[in-house]
Amino acid sequence: MPLHLPPDLDARPTPFYLYDLDLLRRTLQAAQQAARPRAIQVHYALKANANQPIMDLVREYGLGADCVSGNEVQCALDAGFAPAHVVFAGVGKSDAEINRALAADIWCFNVESAPELLVLNELAGRQGRRARVALRLNPNVDARTHHYITTGLEANKFGIGLGELAGVVELLPTLPHVELVGLHVHIGSQITDLAVFETLCHRVNELQQWFEHRGLALPHLNVGGGLGVDYEQPDEQLVPDFEAYFSLFERYLQRRPGQQVHVELGRSLVAQCGTLVSRVLYVKESQQTRFAILDAGMTELIRPALYQSYHRIENLSSQAPAQLYDVVGPICESSDTFGRQVSLPETRRGDLVVLRTAGAYGQVMASRYNLRDEAPAVYVG
Ligand SMILES: *Cc1c(COP(=O)(O)O)cnc(C)c1O
Repeated sequence: MPLHLPPDLDARPTPFYLYDLDLLRRTLQAAQQAARPRAIQVHYALKANANQPIMDLVREYGLGADCVSGNEVQCALDAGFAPAHVVFAGVGKSDAEINRALAADIWCFNVESAPELLVLNELAGRQGRRARVALRLNPNVDARTHHYITTGLEANKFGIGLGELAGVVELLPTLPHVELVGLHVHIGSQITDLAVFETLCHRVNELQQWFEHRGLALPHLNVGGGLGVDYEQPDEQLVPDFEAYFSLFERYLQRRPGQQVHVELGRSLVAQCGTLVSRVLYVKESQQTRFAILDAGMTELIRPALYQSYHRIENLSSQAPAQLYDVVGPICESSDTFGRQVSLPETRRGDLVVLRTAGAYGQVMASRYNLRDEAPAVYVG
């Protein structure tokens, strides 16, 4: 594994999350190097990982914060992000969450429905403020990713459907406490087919024309996140190809003079720098299957159980010839399985086994099911 390891790796209690901050720096640097010359602003979707050292680096590299709950807004502000660099998205914002974000005077609310727009107008009025809003539209573009992380189809709960858009826009002149500043789309996550983003650009161009025909200028276009990473062969591309990604928006988005373009990246910035480190508790053989039972399970990393996602599994302790294992956790659920028929060097009790590409949607989704202890984070590099 080419990532940095702690010097006292063998002595550490497992399981724990290991973060390579050197790789994170290189990733943030590469993203900004591709975004800045194209005048694209990157916001970090902190739902992917909101650990303090990670947030600190994200802020140092000049990214903004994309939040989906009141606590995330608070977390971003506490981490030192300027309110002007914070946006608040989410299909179900509570009154308390909205009030807090209004009081902090964050840059923008990404509004997902007509009823939310009415509530925001009312709450902003009570605070004597005017909320900046981007309308989150559901552009009906298929992200061609797992259906649980697809968000931009008519059948998904997210955004304002194109059929509803005219009605929402007609409301705007009646709402004195909201100001339309742009449009927002986010069609899903772990998108590896970059042609999807080209399709998205064409759709945004059409939507922009629709607004302009109604005399509505959009100073901001927020095209969301979703850039995928290589879970199968993480070492082939530890830093995603941000050049290819940003050049698509440069090429296909019809940007008006002075218009700001935002992207909101989560996974592609932090997935590869995180690794879940565990030890083998037991190797158990049945007639059909050889199980490697780890001390980490779905309580630490739920993605395989939740959406059949693949994480590369490596044994750091053994160089013996390979055998096939079902790699499972200790939790009382059959879905607590990290991989079936995984080829690993012959594995024994006490071996260190890592699950790669676990920096995004890993530790943040941990639970204490079975009253498990929380796995700590260790930072290197
Ligand atoms: C989750 C989310 C993102 C980030 O998605 P990634 O696939 O991690 O890049 C961006 N915008 C919104 C609105 C989100 O909900």
